[in-house]
Amino acid sequence: MIRINQLKLSPGHTEGELRDKIRRMLRLPEGESFCYEIVRQSIDARKKPDIYYSYTVDVRLQKEQSAAKRSRSDQVSVVSPVQYRFPPCGQRRLKHRPIVIGTGPAGLFCGYMLARHGYNPILLERGKDVDSRKKEVDRYWEGGSLNPECNVQFGEGGAGTFSDGKLNTLVKDKDGLNKEVLSIFAAAGAQESILYDGKPHIGTDILMDVVKNIRQAIVDNGGEVRFDTKVSDIVVSDDRIRAVITESGGEFLRLEAEAVVFAIGHSARDTFDMLYKRQIPMEAKSFAVGVRVEHPQKMIDVSQYGEGEHKLPPASYKLTARTKEGRGVYSFCMCPGGYVVNASSEEGRLAVNGMSYSERNGKNANSAIIVSVTPEDYESQHPLAGIAFQRRLEERAFALGQGKVPVEYYGNFKAHTKKEEKTPAIEGGYPPQIKGQWKFAEVHDIMPESLNRAFVEGMEQFERIIPGYAQDSVLLSGVESRTSSPVRITRGGNGQSVISGLYPCGEGAGYAGGIMSAAMDGIKIAEHIAREYMPFENKK
Ligand code: FAD
Repeated sequence: MIRINQLKLSPGHTEGELRDKIRRMLRLPEGESFCYEIVRQSIDARKKPDIYYSYTVDVRLQKEQSAAKRSRSDQVSVVSPVQYRFPPCGQRRLKHRPIVIGTGPAGLFCGYMLARHGYNPILLERGKDVDSRKKEVDRYWEGGSLNPECNVQFGEGGAGTFSDGKLNTLVKDKDGLNKEVLSIFAAAGAQESILYDGKPHIGTDILMDVVKNIRQAIVDNGGEVRFDTKVSDIVVSDDRIRAVITESGGEFLRLEAEAVVFAIGHSARDTFDMLYKRQIPMEAKSFAVGVRVEHPQKMIDVSQYGEGEHKLPPASYKLTARTKEGRGVYSFCMCPGGYVVNASSEEGRLAVNGMSYSERNGKNANSAIIVSVTPEDYESQHPLAGIAFQRRLEERAFALGQGKVPVEYYGNFKAHTKKEEKTPAIEGGYPPQIKGQWKFAEVHDIMPESLNRAFVEGMEQFERIIPGYAQDSVLLSGVESRTSSPVRITRGGNGQSVISGLYPCGEGAGYAGGIMSAAMDGIKIAEHIAREYMPFENKK
């Protein structure tokens, strides 16, 4: 196969223009047939106002070696694409079906792979199926009470369901796993463009169907998914997990298993407590906290693409800074044309995050601007001290907003942090785009002063990159506390805890940060189980 890199075409180009460009690049005579696949498409806006789509394409034709030579271009090479392969199965016999706890990306992809390869997994999810979950979340956002078992963090699809559905990852793809995950998403109904877009995203509206289709594929392949079923305890003896105790509608049930995957996400604080009491080894880890910032999407488009009309998607950005005191400040989970969401999961505590629809056509761009925190910030050496730290911030956010999302203008936040007089009236304001109730409040009272200072220092550095980024009218909502897990449940090279058969997995266990890496970790754990065990015998 021939790979061509950096084929440049203007926004709004046709498919025919891309074909012509490939033909010219390979010096192919008219009439010589070929087919191609786009491997990657990205926007090159470095030399504004000249903006291009840059493509990597794989081309199939006869006599590939000679065509590559004839092109005499270093953009052209002959490649052998990597194809993902699930490993051959092990020799041990399973007496019980493997259990996967959680149906976020980690649990879903683990369950999907196990089901596809004959392991008949049982997936247990404390929240509801995605349709019932959406009703619960909408009711909460419209002012109803929080359901601590089914919300933006808990329920089918996990934390990523009400999200922007960005599918970026920094994890290297030497085994083709990244592509495998994207292909599973696409086969389940996600846009085909995720297979090549340099910044792939699905959007919450499409994700809901995708999640349902993956569940259906699990069931069709002999798996089972139980909703409203929380794992409230585990049974361990002789350093091996023997069973889990589930709680559903007030009833308790014991489920025996030799392989139990904990894909519980970063918000299952009660489950972390339970695992700690059962002496499952875990440690505190660094993460980051901050606030969501909102700007008009138009302003971000101008900063990235320049003035004028463009046939380009709503622009995104990525920003990083280092403060004088050595803290990292960076943008996280940027949602073009998105909404800030009330993403709380505990009563009396409030956390925010961001989401968007597939069209990304909201008025504002939002992003978390977060400051790194380490176990030294947690005021205790306890492995769960990071959770206590998060809870303190979330309690303040809840109290300040009286249960609603607290919102403040950046101008006022900065004046407080720098101990300056507040500006009497902020000019050029625009309304926040928030899913959930909100209220103007003193967001600057949520985080410790040292983190507020780092945040303001970061914002002032970002202003030099995106003019207007730190203007007084920028909206801040707090608190962005669930950026990644503050805990790691340790595991060895076989994917298991020192308690055999217990597989910590995904973001909550500290092995992923985002939808893609969580899904990839889910598959890696399925591979570990498959390497050890034969497929399950008692097919349904
Ligand atoms: P989770 O998705 O958190 O799933 C864990 C599941 O386990 C949950 O469904 C939970 O209900 C269940 N569970 C927990 N405890 C138990 C128990 N005891 N018994 C039974 N079930 C249990 N990442 C991106 O890459 N791109 C984005 O655009 C993006 N946007 C986001 C927007 C929002 C609003 C949020 C909240 C997160 C976003 N993220 C995004 C982060 C992403 O969602 C997570 O990284 C990812 O979901 C982690 O996957 P996971 O499977 O490890 O855990």
